[in-house]
Amino acid sequence: MSTYKTQGIIIKRNNFLEASLILDIWTKDYGKVEAVARSARKVKGKLKGHLELFLDTELILARGKNIDTITSSLTVESFSDLRNNLEFSFGAYYILELVDKMTIEGHQDERIFYLLKEVLLFLDDIAMVETRQCLVSTTAILFFQTNLLNLTGFSPELSKCVLCGKPIKAGKNYFSFSMGGVVGSECGLVETRLIASLQSQQISDNTIKLLRLFQFKGGNIKEYNSHLNKCFEIIKKLKVDEKLVLDSVFLMNKFIEFNVERKIRGVDFLRGV
Ligand SMILES: [Zn+2]
Repeated sequence: MSTYKTQGIIIKRNNFLEASLILDIWTKDYGKVEAVARSARKVKGKLKGHLELFLDTELILARGKNIDTITSSLTVESFSDLRNNLEFSFGAYYILELVDKMTIEGHQDERIFYLLKEVLLFLDDIAMVETRQCLVSTTAILFFQTNLLNLTGFSPELSKCVLCGKPIKAGKNYFSFSMGGVVGSECGLVETRLIASLQSQQISDNTIKLLRLFQFKGGNIKEYNSHLNKCFEIIKKLKVDEKLVLDSVFLMNKFIEFNVERKIRGVDFLRGV
């Protein structure tokens, strides 16, 4: 049987048969992989505790006809502070759900592995710090949304009007879900009926500015890692109203749901429902 080794973060975990698990893992080398872990729920199973959600783990897998099998798993990073913080855990579950629903098996992109890992590390780092915790973690989630959109080919257009191509100016602008970006105030005024049919809503100048901060315009893994570091510095220092960030998170969530044609359930936890 041929085996392969890789590192990955567990993004989905379902019970299977009596004592086994089916897992989706975002791996560094192969993108999203679905695999079975036999007997992983047995009390003395050697995989027990090494296959929890959002663990970063080093894996050995055996190739199978229908599905690969995990034969070994060694935890690289458990993000324990993040795991012990209930509110932050909801944020982590939300970003796992985004990765799960916005990507398909066979989609390989090392940058997504680093995005996921670095955001989890960032949340883990600040999970025990009291000050500005909510604002910083919500901003990290917004950053994650915009970057996953960028890396999966759904980048929203934020600089030019999606109808006429003219640069977006401050004013009464709209965000169109179906056109994938901002409709400028001039087009919005003329085309009020069109605006209604474009599935859009008004977008504030501050939201546009905030979303533009994190946009990744493309580049290799090295360029992406420096973009990640730059964005984390911005997130830590950002002085904005938390409501603005939350509104932006909900707007991007709606845009994601529109693109993947699925509901993202984890957003309800961010709303505090
Ligand atoms: Zn226009």
